[in-house]
Amino acid sequence: QMLVEVEEEHVFKSQFSAVPVPENMTLPEFVLHEAELYADKVAIVDPVTGKEFTYAQVVRDTRRFCKALRSLGLRNGKVVVVVLPNVAEYAIIALGIMASGGVFSGANPQAHTSELKKQVEASDAKLIVTIGSLYEKVKDLGVPIIILGEEHIENTICWEELLDASDHAGSGAMNETIDQNDLCALPFSSGTTGTSKGVMLTHKNLVANLCSTLFSVGPDIIGQVTALGLMPFFHIYGIVGICCATLRNKGKVVVMGRFELRTFLNALITHEINFAPIVPPIMLALVKNPVVEEFDLSRLKLKAVMTAAAPLAPELLSAFEEKFPGVQVQEAYGLTEHSCITLTHGDPRKGHGTAKKNSVGFILPNLEIKFLDPDTGRSLPKNTPGEVCVRSQCVMQGYYKNREETERTIDNNGWLHTGDIGYIDDDGDVFIVDRIKELIKYKGFQVAPAELEAILLSHPSVEDAAVVPLPDEEAGEIPVACVVMNKNAKETEKDIMNFVASNVAAYKKVRVVHFVDTIPKSPSGKILRRYLKEMLEKKKETS
Ligand code: AMP
Repeated sequence: QMLVEVEEEHVFKSQFSAVPVPENMTLPEFVLHEAELYADKVAIVDPVTGKEFTYAQVVRDTRRFCKALRSLGLRNGKVVVVVLPNVAEYAIIALGIMASGGVFSGANPQAHTSELKKQVEASDAKLIVTIGSLYEKVKDLGVPIIILGEEHIENTICWEELLDASDHAGSGAMNETIDQNDLCALPFSSGTTGTSKGVMLTHKNLVANLCSTLFSVGPDIIGQVTALGLMPFFHIYGIVGICCATLRNKGKVVVMGRFELRTFLNALITHEINFAPIVPPIMLALVKNPVVEEFDLSRLKLKAVMTAAAPLAPELLSAFEEKFPGVQVQEAYGLTEHSCITLTHGDPRKGHGTAKKNSVGFILPNLEIKFLDPDTGRSLPKNTPGEVCVRSQCVMQGYYKNREETERTIDNNGWLHTGDIGYIDDDGDVFIVDRIKELIKYKGFQVAPAELEAILLSHPSVEDAAVVPLPDEEAGEIPVACVVMNKNAKETEKDIMNFVASNVAAYKKVRVVHFVDTIPKSPSGKILRRYLKEMLEKKKETS
């Protein structure tokens, strides 16, 4: 093979000095560091159930669960799939799995049995943790099940009894040591193409990500943050960005299982939440929904709102700032493959200056970013949009048992190719302007077109199909299907939509179906998604 000389690259580094990443610390050790100094402080509270955990209780139950997993025979590197809504115990469960040497793999509790089966099989899961109301979905997946709470269901393990028994067990036989480079989490993401894949993250990946994200945290902020725990904890944004970050700083997480505007506003006021990580559709509700007028907003203690997971429309940002003056909006950009946050705005009180409005923020310490011309693969200078690539200690180890996709995503020099298009300006602020990967984001949730296409193709009357995103004010994007039906098919568009809906979690539903004559494809047979998207957008405009 010919040796190719690398031309000078346009690589951008953080403007902030590097931050140290503690070595030889597991994620649970890092997160619960010095927790004993805050033993009686409430760490986690669920306003709906009233359940509350102090730091002493979080540490105690994380240890008990860790010991219990060992006694159940869980070995290092083995996966536990957690199928739960946001509950007060969630962080304890995730940290307990990681502390035992196991690997935490969160699943969307809305997922269908068939989707959960895929995750359990693809990750070689050894255990499932769920609640009684979701038991039916997982009961036949062939994996032992732990049921949270006191509930007894035949052939399952009761959480309370398991923890109680661990108190009487021996030392917990923690004979296998855990290395910082061991895997601790396996969230699922479709990446730039295809269907969902396990993203291999190590203790080091996540500790490094938290160190970069929390680089500006000084002693004055320790113990001061009350964060809203609404973003799903099965997703890296919820478990790392909210739970782990808040617990590390000895703040309080106010857990919320689902979004309901009145409950949300009540919790903000009653629990004096000062930091609310959300997604753009929730910001839209706060700006537009008349229910908000029922509340006395002067009682809010909210200082900052973080929005991430999907693009934030500039008009929405302005409308929010007008309605909630004094609340700082901190946009953030990140992805599962990079352990969580990658770019964000600073805290103005720390003298970083904030990044410009409508930018996703600046490069966090310890990270390098470059922008590649999607056609030539060459790195681009500032102010020139290209594919965002990032290199740091937070880059995943790869997709579980999927070398081909791993090699497609992380190059030989360790750069993670994100599939997003953006640029950096003269001041080091980054703007995300487009997405070239297949991924669709419905209200911030991942929807993989390839997965919906496979379901469509499994219908006997469907000859060919392609799914693309279309912009939507409320959801950001919605999945739209173009379908080629065979000649004698009797089904309507509605029938096809219902067929998909009966096979996937509600947020993945195809929202519009168009019957077409052919699906435009490249000579190599790849769906021309961009072309289809543009065609549909035009069609929408003219209709
Ligand atoms: P996930 O792995 O589910 O967090 O999805 C990551 C993807 O969400 C990114 O690659 C982007 O396409 C999109 N994304 C995340 N944050 C933002 C943001 N602030 N603006 C635009 N897109 C975003």
